[in-house]
Amino acid sequence: MSQPRILDGKAIAAAVLEECRAEAAELKAKGITPGLAVVLVGSDPASKVYVGSKVRTCGELGLFSKKVELPEETTQEELLKVVEDLNNDPAIHGILVQSPPPKHIDEEAIVRALDPRKDVDGFHPENVAKLALEDPTGFVPCTPAGCMKILEVSGIPTSGAEAVVIGRSMIVGKPMALLLVAKNSNATVTIAHSRSKDLPGICRRADIIVAAVGRPEMVKADWVKPGAVVIDVGINRVEDASKKSGYRLTGDVAYDEVAPHCSAITPVPGGVGPMTIAMLMKNTLQAARQIGA
Ligand code: NAD
Repeated sequence: MSQPRILDGKAIAAAVLEECRAEAAELKAKGITPGLAVVLVGSDPASKVYVGSKVRTCGELGLFSKKVELPEETTQEELLKVVEDLNNDPAIHGILVQSPPPKHIDEEAIVRALDPRKDVDGFHPENVAKLALEDPTGFVPCTPAGCMKILEVSGIPTSGAEAVVIGRSMIVGKPMALLLVAKNSNATVTIAHSRSKDLPGICRRADIIVAAVGRPEMVKADWVKPGAVVIDVGINRVEDASKKSGYRLTGDVAYDEVAPHCSAITPVPGGVGPMTIAMLMKNTLQAARQIGA
């Protein structure tokens, strides 16, 4: 079996970030400094790492960033007030409330309170509708936008392709399916989920598989049609005594056995992961452009 193309998300993300750096400089020359606010409630270690790298990337590109760290016991009302203040802050064009918040917070209500023009995660109902309407002024959720970018810059044709998206979350699966079926992509899309029957059979039809499940190495070699393209969104920690940390990261795809069947595949880590921050920066610049000074 031939070797697949390894779709290098790190390199593609680096190129996107270079475009963002140039665009940030252009906006600054017009007197607009793009600004992103990242709100973290509580002290979840993974969330802290994500927030840290978002803020750091802003700095590297010349974007203004504001990190708002709130204690675990922050109330819904207090958080809504923070969101309102950021909605009204002219230095801020993008707002992101890091997920997941503590259990007592109603995340959906927080998302609805965001000014949709600043909702750079693309989770507000207005942006969900704009995605369905194919309105380019809306914000596309960063991870599926990153998957589409990988397909696009890798020259992988989507028009007329059979695409199977495994997972129906509002963060990845559903927006991914909408992007693939949109008129500028034209794939024939199936969304599979936890109640789907004969998942291996559904996947075997696919020219493109996007796995966004959160189950380590679920997609096996005999689920994949020879020559298919596999985009692995999953990021799962599995125990590994040979690692200093005691764990390693793995995707939703059994990479070693699946790769030889594919024409192209994203690795984990180094595939979809790095694209998410890059697309967040792109969305923040879009917000700054659209809102203006
Ligand atoms: P989620 O838990 O919200 O959704 C998982 C989906 O998988 C659900 O729609 C469910 O129906 C489906 N599912 C669960 N078990 C299934 C099964 N046995 N067969 C078929 N479908 C099944 O998760 P999510 O937020 O969409 O994230 C999915 C994965 O992507 C996770 O591993 C997450 O860590 C990863 N992720 C990565 C990035 C990134 O930046 N690369 C961003 C977001 C999520």
